Amino acid sequence: PEVVSVQDFASRIGKTAAEVIKKLMGLGIMATINQEIDAETVQIIADDFGFEINIKPEENEETMLLAAETEDKPEDLLPRPCVVTVMGHVDHGKTSLLDAIRETNVTSTEAGGITQHIGAYQVERNNKKITFVDTPGHEAFTAMRARGAKVTDIAILVVAADDGVMPQTIEAINHAKAAGVPIIVAVNKIDKDNAVPEKVKQELTKHELVVEEWGGDTISVNVSALKREGIDELLEMILLVSEMAELKANPNRPAKGTIIEAELDKARGPVATLLVQNGTLRVGDSIVSGAAFGKVRAMMDERGRKVEKAEPSQPVVVLGFHDVPQAGDIFQALDDEKLARYVAEKRLSKKREEELKVAPRVSLDDLFKQI
Ligand code: GDP
Ligand code: MG
Repeated sequence: PEVVSVQDFASRIGKTAAEVIKKLMGLGIMATINQEIDAETVQIIADDFGFEINIKPEENEETMLLAAETEDKPEDLLPRPCVVTVMGHVDHGKTSLLDAIRETNVTSTEAGGITQHIGAYQVERNNKKITFVDTPGHEAFTAMRARGAKVTDIAILVVAADDGVMPQTIEAINHAKAAGVPIIVAVNKIDKDNAVPEKVKQELTKHELVVEEWGGDTISVNVSALKREGIDELLEMILLVSEMAELKANPNRPAKGTIIEAELDKARGPVATLLVQNGTLRVGDSIVSGAAFGKVRAMMDERGRKVEKAEPSQPVVVLGFHDVPQAGDIFQALDDEKLARYVAEKRLSKKREEELKVAPRVSLDDLFKQI
């Protein structure tokens, strides 16, 4: 609750501190001049003096952020592309599959252009976009979920046909299920001599993933990331699942989304890859994420091309943060630059306070031992 010192309160109502202290004593409170009194006590004493005061509900940076946020009306919501994450056991081909999808979808005009490796990219198929988030393993996925960020609409579960269901495959299944994210199975490495895709499907039934050909409702596609086989079919299945999910967002509002990755670049300062999840982010927007804030100075897509705006489900590289934001944190664009700064500063000082609290204390005994 809001507090005010006796001295402050007295001068605000035009009384002396002694008069206020006397009233406090009447309430059984022994206060000194610098002591802080809470809102409730202030209300009682003000009443006693015959003042009408209106104590505002506590206003902190988070409630201010919420106030700056507008609720989307159903009629403002428009379809948005789906956001896909690839999960699975180590070495089953997650990175290879993401590379295969990225490369097979570079149009001829872009071919030859150097594609930067950023944490997310978009491809187009049948004039529909699909966003892939390249989280390094599912640790990042879990970390993001722990912070309340729901990034993924669909999970691609990669299982190598020569290896089958492994511990991290099961972990991935559990994460996706806990997040309520639909799973599409990509049985990978079918080019290998010892590939047994049927064995993979059979093992998956033990984890309540029954593929369609066996009467279940799990979509499964055989692929070879290495030979670039089955990629088109996989993309088509992703679009199918995406359409059923009827994903929507409101592009006509300040942007909100998640930091996918961020680092300090020697030349350009903090560089962050953001996934816009609602609204539209524009060059010049003020932005806050955790204790980091800034103003969008420039934006680039995954091919390093400058863009002026980023719409829902679009990943974008952003320059203009004053500090490096944290991957997995939510970001919010604000009309008001001062509010962005204020929120970031408040969060930073809170963070510092927390750090002080958990700082190890040295006991007297320890001190003596050191001497
Ligand atoms: P990740 O750990 O899941 O990201 O797996 P990687 O993409 O790094 O792949 C692990 C290994 O499997 C690499 O040596 C790849 O070349 C190989 N690999 C990936 N996909 C295929 C495939 O479809 N066929 C074959 N034969 N090898 C593959
Ligand atoms: Mg990998």
